[in-house]
Amino acid sequence: MRRRASGSSSLHPGGLHAGGGGVRVFAQAGPVPPAPAGHSWESLMAHALERARMAAALGEIPVGAVLVAPDGRVLAAEGNAPVALHDPTAHAEIQVLRRAGPAFGNYRLGGCVLVVTLEPCAMCAAAAIHARLAGVVYGAADPQAGAVVSCAEYFDAQSANHSIWHMGGIRAAECAQLLHDFFATRRNEQG
Ligand SMILES: [Zn+2]
Repeated sequence: MRRRASGSSSLHPGGLHAGGGGVRVFAQAGPVPPAPAGHSWESLMAHALERARMAAALGEIPVGAVLVAPDGRVLAAEGNAPVALHDPTAHAEIQVLRRAGPAFGNYRLGGCVLVVTLEPCAMCAAAAIHARLAGVVYGAADPQAGAVVSCAEYFDAQSANHSIWHMGGIRAAECAQLLHDFFATRRNEQG
């Protein structure tokens, strides 16, 4: 299922500084896929935001993610953890993929959707393709490293051997504010 931009031009672009929470929907045809039973995309993002806040409290850049199965099971919820784990690949998205595989019983997470507070980077977008995810929902866009729409379009690349629908802007203002607050505090501490 490949979905592409449709009618997004009237919505202001995302980005950490957008602040307005405009929802950017990329869909070739038809409505935005509904969230799995028992959830809304906003409630799943609230769950991811919880994890992002927990990460911030541990000194990690506040990004959180959840991985939800087609039947609505939340297979994993994790925050960024590179600092604690001494692992440059321990982004929130990688963390949930690692945990969700065993919970799902398959290294291919067909039908599952990743919900993450920040637009995934190239590493995480590639991992989502390897995992055969159905879709990716993110909060704030990342103009510096985002690989979904900002700096690259991994999911729309012709070379991608698996198509993933994607939607940004869910609770974007809250997701971006967390990052702003984190970096502002850090600057003050260093200042
Ligand atoms: Zn990443």
